[in-house]
Amino acid sequence: MIPYGRQDISEADIQAVVDVLRSDFLTQGPAVPAFEKAIADYCGAQHAVAVNSATSALHIACLALGVGPGDWVWTSPVTFVASANCALYCGAQVDFVDIDPCTYNLSVERLAEKLAQAKKSGCLPKVVIPVHLCGQPCGMADIRALGQRYGFKIIEDASHAIGGRYKGEPIGNCRYSDITVFSFHPVKIITTGEGGMALTNDESLAKHMQLLRSHGITRDVADMTHSPDGPWYYQQIDLGFNYRMADIQAALGLSQMRRLDEFVNKRHAIAQRYDELLADLPVIIPSKHPDSYSGLHLYVIRLKLNQIRKTHREVFETMRATSIGVNIHYIPVYRQPYYEVLGFKPGHCLEAEKYYSEAISLPLYSALTEAQHDQVVTALREATSA
Ligand SMILES: *Cc1c(COP(=O)(O)O)cnc(C)c1O
Repeated sequence: MIPYGRQDISEADIQAVVDVLRSDFLTQGPAVPAFEKAIADYCGAQHAVAVNSATSALHIACLALGVGPGDWVWTSPVTFVASANCALYCGAQVDFVDIDPCTYNLSVERLAEKLAQAKKSGCLPKVVIPVHLCGQPCGMADIRALGQRYGFKIIEDASHAIGGRYKGEPIGNCRYSDITVFSFHPVKIITTGEGGMALTNDESLAKHMQLLRSHGITRDVADMTHSPDGPWYYQQIDLGFNYRMADIQAALGLSQMRRLDEFVNKRHAIAQRYDELLADLPVIIPSKHPDSYSGLHLYVIRLKLNQIRKTHREVFETMRATSIGVNIHYIPVYRQPYYEVLGFKPGHCLEAEKYYSEAISLPLYSALTEAQHDQVVTALREATSA
């Protein structure tokens, strides 16, 4: 099976992990701060807080921004469930803003309309979480302007987007957001096995997230309620979690960072070749917004079903039957049973549902060979031929 995504591990990556295994610290050593610094420097952000997943990063980002019971958090329906679940962890309520029919990202127009309505009914969101689907950034300048007008904070879910750019600057610099989150799951652009990071330019948010990732415990005298009882002393001043990244993981991440640009360039070369080879097929290839240079986590096509004999599902199954590990990103989050119980009904976001009925993710990862690539295209050509 050719998977839709997979990691690219070099001998240098393996050696970096082995070096940590032979060192004094498997966790809470020097590799985590070194990895944080590498990512912050690459992105041009002031602070980076490494955690054990993007899901954890989203959770502590929401908490640091004060999300709690009675608050609303809005995100895109076309995302992994974690982008919405983070608000529920905090006791807040979630709603979804329909997608743009070209980029499949949260639509700025729909967001503006929904904000105007919410203002009238007094339920404006505290936080909006734009998701850079497939690695292509959302319209962040416009979303930021709406944030200033309506008073909401912004967490960029950039799980797909490390190595990408928006208006010529690295995604993750938080120019248009309060916090940006990356994922280092093996299918993503660089990996630490499991892992995530939250970036911010706000020192107090960074400090709060550092506290929350490790039980709410501080060893900083300045943050304590009274002077230490002795050199062993620490204080728990908040209710945090164990969301720490291990040094073993951070060493892998640091080593992977050295090839980030190479990975994204390779993804672009493969996507470019897909664009050319799929040009005469009854599919819509991914759009490229002029403001954006995508991290290209995913290559999603949409089937022109009125020009294909098979159904969406049949095309998918035909591809899988020929060992092409296609996938679907994503089932609209509010169509999950857990969200239906919360009151969401089919039809809540029509563009998202239309997208879901046509979208297929084709294999895309830096180590995909040209022969595998051709195999995918041939299989799709056969699956969609009349
Ligand atoms: C993968 C992903 C996450 C969760 O990442 P983990 O590191 O697996 O917790 C969150 N949001 C999006 C959009 C993702 O693709």
